[in-house]
Amino acid sequence: MTYVDGNALAGPLREIFAVDLTAASGQCVACGQTGPVAALRVYTSAPGLVARCPGCDEVVLRLVRGPSGAWLDLRGCVSLQIPL
Ligand SMILES: [Zn+2]
Repeated sequence: MTYVDGNALAGPLREIFAVDLTAASGQCVACGQTGPVAALRVYTSAPGLVARCPGCDEVVLRLVRGPSGAWLDLRGCVSLQIPL
């Protein structure tokens, strides 16, 4: 399955947050690797967007956009450090 980099999340996340989260640094729950959201591997052919860790391939983030809202699942991320 092919993927694109985390910059593909910029537009969809910008719709939800006032800051650009692709510059945020997150830590993977599964392997502890820390890196920018822009470095995640984003699979766009799933329902919504699925972002996987470049270190261990576990799911870090899921984003599904519906007609009246969005669902953001960050359970694969220990924390996000957001530059402000
Ligand atoms: Zn990982």
